[in-house]
Amino acid sequence: MSTIDIVAWFVYLLAAVMFVIGLHFMNSPKSARKGNQISAAGMVIAVIMAFAHLFAAGFISSTAVIVLVAGVAVGGVAGVYSAKKVKMTDMPQLVSVFNTVGGGAAALVALNDILASAKTPDTVVLVTAGLGVLIGSVTFTGSLVAAGKLQGIIPGRPLALPAKNLWNLACAVLAVASAVMLVLRPEQRLLWSVLTALFALLYGLLFVFPIGGADMPVVISVLNACTGTAVAMSGLAIDNVALIIAGALVGAAGVTLSVLMAKAMNRPLSSVLLGGFGDSTSHDDADGPEGSMRETTADDVAVQLAYAQKVIFTPGFGLAQAQAQRELADLGELLKARGIEVLYAIHPVAGRMPGHMNVLLAEANVPYEELVDLDDINPQFPGASISLVVGANDVTNPAARKPGTAVSGMPILDVDKAQNVVVIKRGRGKGYAGIENELYFTPNTQMLFGDAKAELQAIIAAVKELDA
Ligand code: NDP
Repeated sequence: MSTIDIVAWFVYLLAAVMFVIGLHFMNSPKSARKGNQISAAGMVIAVIMAFAHLFAAGFISSTAVIVLVAGVAVGGVAGVYSAKKVKMTDMPQLVSVFNTVGGGAAALVALNDILASAKTPDTVVLVTAGLGVLIGSVTFTGSLVAAGKLQGIIPGRPLALPAKNLWNLACAVLAVASAVMLVLRPEQRLLWSVLTALFALLYGLLFVFPIGGADMPVVISVLNACTGTAVAMSGLAIDNVALIIAGALVGAAGVTLSVLMAKAMNRPLSSVLLGGFGDSTSHDDADGPEGSMRETTADDVAVQLAYAQKVIFTPGFGLAQAQAQRELADLGELLKARGIEVLYAIHPVAGRMPGHMNVLLAEANVPYEELVDLDDINPQFPGASISLVVGANDVTNPAARKPGTAVSGMPILDVDKAQNVVVIKRGRGKGYAGIENELYFTPNTQMLFGDAKAELQAIIAAVKELDA
């Protein structure tokens, strides 16, 4: 080992330690920003070291350096620009695009390691690089489809070929068999590595197209885990400790999150991955709820809230869309000042990313102890005078309690069990799963149609008016 190799090894280790420390700080919304900065600094150090290492060891020409610098500059600018510009509600699409890029890069690094040298790579490299190509390629196309679905470019509902499980299985078997052949027949490595990549790319498409509706959060998380695993495999193949540890961290965090999300959604992970549940998604409202909706006004809601004993706010994607978190927090403070108990019901997949409501409400300085998880808040709804639903739809849909709907089996917030329900939404728009919500047609529900921010401001003004 040369001196530069030893220095590089220690610098990569330092970068990896910074990733771990950064991740630790992400445990709490208060320190998450700092955690992100530490991890990003670790990545900058690792990238600079990779350059210095390659250059000093004479692995690359100065032309290659120019190409690499241009690549980093373009990628860096695109990354910073998109991260700064993206709306909070579009974050999952951005994460999916980053997964696409991460998976694709890991597959290319692994492919290069298999093919670049005239010498036959040893078995360990063939196995790890083969896995990097396999998993990275699945992630590339899978994440691309997921981003398209989230952005609305591809229909969000499940799209499946007839006998989809057979096609999926055939592609998965062919991709794995090609990777095995790559190890058994390294002299034909060009053929087997390219076939591995092609079948895996196809599998990624077939895997995500049939998944839709309420299962998407789990899929995004699984693809995130795949990105990490592909990066770790490529790191093993090229013997880069920073890539191995960074990839392992993302992979392990992604797997943990996938399992937790699947549990929270009451979905066996295997069923989500096979796209089984989404099949029942129906966009045909022939069987939709019957009856009419009862409309109300901000003034009327203000009176109901002002004389309530206990109010449970139920925020959802519409709150994020309207950026009305501060207004909701202000209304909460106003009601608490009147001696009313106020709680916030948090569903694990409300919004468009895990923890979305926690992040939004933390931004508005809502005390953490007022945010109550699904299991703890549900028994409290019958004792609530009013449940104020702000831009939440699927996570409150009682259709989840019946079989055969797009949200069947998903645990929901039992807002319909409160004494009175007020729903703020702009109109008759459906939720992410694309089905009607029968909550809106129940006798104890009143609809306040309008943008969440404007309606909350009107309610706040009306409550203040009562005190004047
Ligand atoms: P939904 O997407 O089900 O519903 C949001 C509702 O908000 C819509 O019905 C819409 O109705 C209303 N709305 C939109 N904009 C506004 C606005 N400016 N003011 C007031 N209302 C507004 O949200 P939920 O949070 O209930 O459920 C989340 C869904 O997203 C679940 O199906 C989940 O599976 C899925 N998902 C979650 C992810 C996660 O990780 N959390 C990731 C990907 C998907 P209208 O148009 O009439 O105003």
